[in-house]
Amino acid sequence: MQNECSSKEICVRCGGAHTTPNCDKPPKCINCNGEHPASNKDCPKRIENIKIITKVAKEKCSYKEARTEVKHEIKKQDIVHRPKTKSPLPKEHKEIEDLLVFIALLLKKLPAIKEENAQFIYITDLVKKVFGFEIQPQNLTKRFTELI
Ligand SMILES: [Zn+2]
Ligand SMILES: [Zn+2]
Repeated sequence: MQNECSSKEICVRCGGAHTTPNCDKPPKCINCNGEHPASNKDCPKRIENIKIITKVAKEKCSYKEARTEVKHEIKKQDIVHRPKTKSPLPKEHKEIEDLLVFIALLLKKLPAIKEENAQFIYITDLVKKVFGFEIQPQNLTKRFTELI
């Protein structure tokens, strides 16, 4: 009897018919089909089940009732949280920040610099400080007249 039981080992990692230490498959949750082991604390199905069981114990309702309510609550939470979950920031995030700082400094300082030449020198200095590369002020002057 005992032998029969241990031969029906279910892998916690992928749900396959082998022991977990021998598993070489990517994790797949048997509860929710997510890409994590069934033992994962953050498994949505596991969290849901804990909520249902807690509800049954607390409110003395049936399992079915509790499940319906918990599913309803989770759905509601999803809708509330969705607008807050922004897509992850791009890798160039830091560069965008630098660019904004650059523009802000430029706008703040430029009107105070009367001479055009001094403005270009200021810009090229700032580019070097913020972005770390060098531009010749005269190149900038040239491009500037080309563009405008
Ligand atoms: Zn496995
Ligand atoms: Zn899961």
